[in-house]
Amino acid sequence: MNKKTQARNIVAALEKTYPDAICSLAYVKPHELLIATRLAAQCTDARVNIVTRTLYKVYPTLEAFAEASVDDVTDIVRPCGLGPTKARDIVAMSKMLVEEYGGVVPDTVEELLKLPGVGRKTANLVVGDIYHKPAVVCDTHCIRITNLMGLTDSKNALIVERQLREILDPEKSNDFCHRLVLHGRAVCVARSPKCDQCCVRGFCTYGKADDKKKKRAG
Ligand code: SF4
Repeated sequence: MNKKTQARNIVAALEKTYPDAICSLAYVKPHELLIATRLAAQCTDARVNIVTRTLYKVYPTLEAFAEASVDDVTDIVRPCGLGPTKARDIVAMSKMLVEEYGGVVPDTVEELLKLPGVGRKTANLVVGDIYHKPAVVCDTHCIRITNLMGLTDSKNALIVERQLREILDPEKSNDFCHRLVLHGRAVCVARSPKCDQCCVRGFCTYGKADDKKKKRAG
């Protein structure tokens, strides 16, 4: 089976198992997704969602974030960790969006990467979720699980993103990455993947090897 076929089979199996491929970060406006993703670095989405409930109330518009004091934002985002750094990036990216982009979040990875604190993962998330363009969000789940599946063979996010862009149908790639997060939490957990319960076992390199090992032992 070539990698494109393998990827298609995996995408189809995950679609069936996780019909709702939604982002677990809470947001309504495009800039709020940028801010929530910045806060999610080294923090759980659940905690970010608690913090942003207050944050979006205090700063209801992009302009309000652009005019905010970094110290005041730090006080609110502190529970997410790295408070001062994240607050500085949030205010700086909001200022740049207002001053250089007319208050509109850009729709390309290249432009998004110019914003303070925005990396490829965030840029891809925005392009995929806000603008519904092909995107590959390479987070730790995506890198770990696609390596196990045998779809990719690098721990480097940029290389994994490129390898996945080559084999995934573009219109499926963004939702595939969301589903990997759900799959990584529910079944393909980091320390001991539950291959016995996995919907993609028949198409996963690690899962098939595990199967053979068990048959030989059993
Ligand atoms: S078969 Fe195992 S390693 Fe492969 S995706 Fe499923 S749980 Fe992860």
